[in-house]
Amino acid sequence: MAEEALTCPFCGAPYRAIIPAGTIQVKCDYCGATILVPPRLGGAVRQCPNHPDTLAVGLCNDCGQSYCTRCLYIFNVEGGKLHVCAKCYEKRRGMKTVWASILLIFSIALLLAIPFIIATPTPSPDTGGVLQMLFGAILLLTLSLVGFSAGKKMPPSVHDMLQQGGYEGHNPKSFLKKCVKCQKEIPIASEECPYCEAKQKGT
Ligand SMILES: [Zn+2]
Ligand SMILES: [Zn+2]
Ligand SMILES: [Zn+2]
Ligand SMILES: [Zn+2]
Repeated sequence: MAEEALTCPFCGAPYRAIIPAGTIQVKCDYCGATILVPPRLGGAVRQCPNHPDTLAVGLCNDCGQSYCTRCLYIFNVEGGKLHVCAKCYEKRRGMKTVWASILLIFSIALLLAIPFIIATPTPSPDTGGVLQMLFGAILLLTLSLVGFSAGKKMPPSVHDMLQQGGYEGHNPKSFLKKCVKCQKEIPIASEECPYCEAKQKGT
């Protein structure tokens, strides 16, 4: 019985639930990614639109297009991670740039207001207040610059991150076990070792 398990291409977790015939996509229980069921398990053959010779393995959480791991990026949101394509990544990052611009405008307004406050003859200028404003303006300016710089470079793709040994909280190592015979690391759901073909107990 060569029953091949489905492994999440994004986090390396095994997908253990039974996949009914005709199912084309499932959700990973570990990372929440939408995984395309590979053709060998009854899924449809879908090529990555950017890499026609590569099978698409997952969906962009925003636009629902299927892509390979080279074309998907991790976007951190409150309470989790999204897998998005380059286009949708840019769109989401664009929102960050909008916020950075708003902060920039505020900080400049604050800086411009300071000379007026100092120039006001009555009452005598409150140095503590002016320093606080200056500090606030510099803080806002720094935040906006951080926002702008974060909005420039594309991060490594899911593929690149996995090549570098996984990413935060999704290290495929936690879904590996040691073969009972040869002690090599194999996917936790495997019933047979891919190296020495030894049957694994207790799976
Ligand atoms: Zn996963
Ligand atoms: Zn997308
Ligand atoms: Zn691709
Ligand atoms: Zn083995």
